[in-house]
Amino acid sequence: MHKQNSPVFALLLLILGTQSSAASKPESFTRADLAAASTLRERALADATAYSLVESLTTEVGPRAAGSPGDKAAVAWGLREMERLGFVNVRAAEAIVPHWERGEAEFAVLAPFPQTMPTLALGGSIGTGEEGIDADAVMVKDLAALTALPAGAVKDKIVFFTNRMERTRDGSGYGKAVTVRASGPAEAAALGAVGVVIRSISTSDARFPHTGTTRYTINAPRIPALAISNPDADALVRQFESGKPVRLRIKSTSRDLPQVRSANVIGEIPGTDRASEIVILGAHLDSWDAGVGALDDGAGVAIMMGVAKLIKELDARPRRTIRVVLFANEEFGTSGSLAYLAANEAEIERHVLGFEADFGAGPVWRLASRVEPAQLPVIDQIFRALAPLKLVRGDNAAKGGADLAGLSKRGMPIIEPGLDGTDYFDVHHTANDTLARVDPEALRQSVAAFAVSVWLGAQYPGSWERVAAPKTAQR
Ligand SMILES: [Zn+2]
Repeated sequence: MHKQNSPVFALLLLILGTQSSAASKPESFTRADLAAASTLRERALADATAYSLVESLTTEVGPRAAGSPGDKAAVAWGLREMERLGFVNVRAAEAIVPHWERGEAEFAVLAPFPQTMPTLALGGSIGTGEEGIDADAVMVKDLAALTALPAGAVKDKIVFFTNRMERTRDGSGYGKAVTVRASGPAEAAALGAVGVVIRSISTSDARFPHTGTTRYTINAPRIPALAISNPDADALVRQFESGKPVRLRIKSTSRDLPQVRSANVIGEIPGTDRASEIVILGAHLDSWDAGVGALDDGAGVAIMMGVAKLIKELDARPRRTIRVVLFANEEFGTSGSLAYLAANEAEIERHVLGFEADFGAGPVWRLASRVEPAQLPVIDQIFRALAPLKLVRGDNAAKGGADLAGLSKRGMPIIEPGLDGTDYFDVHHTANDTLARVDPEALRQSVAAFAVSVWLGAQYPGSWERVAAPKTAQR
């Protein structure tokens, strides 16, 4: 094409070149911006900031479930660390969060072969009272199997869900399996069940139960709900397969307490000529209470803070404002994200691009996005800048994470450096989510991939266009 150089063709090129951002060929990054991206990548691969942050958060704060003392300590930690790293406009923005307290839980098989098994109550589930519940049990695979049972089949019984989650790199197995945890207790209660036990939403064969939120409905009574580990679920299935009646005992002292003031922790690297446009970097500060939330989501917090710190240390300043938001209570109702949306209602359109890290400590293996299709060549350019990190080019159907779901529904484009989730659900929401699961090298590589993508997203010479809302539900 460039070989043609007739005056008419040159004029045509000139006209096309002066079109707005709607022109088919996106504007290219400057040499300086691409050079800075390389600098960021190299520095990130040698930078210990993110690992130090997740180490500090898990050691000094530890568990930080919404409304708990750890939650308060995490907010103070976030403010202190953002100030220390030199972020600007560091602040705590109020978010009211629910306060559910786990208490103690017990699970026992009474018949045919008596055994006790480690258990965790599902997040938000009600207690049984001190006396616990003894009941005959019914085993079903999943919600479809529950619905297919004859009328009255689970009345006054404990329902045991057996479906096993599939291990995948992109976490797609979770979405398919998690409906049992989210809706199983409510659906079983609607059919007259008195309690629920689920096979953990887990890919591990370790004897750790996995917690996570369950959602009651107003159409059915709230009933207690526990999770047991994969190997114990296998053992319980074998008890059912003996053909003898299975009787279970469950006990949980979990309870709801009054709501508590928490906060999103926010800090910025201010932009320059396009400072009013915000590139938002989201992760969540809360964790479930059983572990210390190293992967979920200490690593995400560390990646985003590490990225902003490296960009701040560049000679160049970003064009758009980079805003790190450590969201309150993602795990039990996304209160922080909802509070952020409400507080920023007048400025939704200023959020021109979003990144979220809530899927462990890496490495990043893929670059996906959800941008206007005409802007895909920009993502291709970013992908080329990431070449030394050896990623796979993903599609344009990125769902983003839970905390940016509201902004993305309102048209904010998303770039998604995909964290490798192959092992993520081995420890997700368990007591075993500890710093030992964070590989420093994978974490540094993840910071590098995010840093390059965030930087170029902030420097893009064109305008980020709003995108149509995703058709499917957010993860
Ligand atoms: Zn998370």
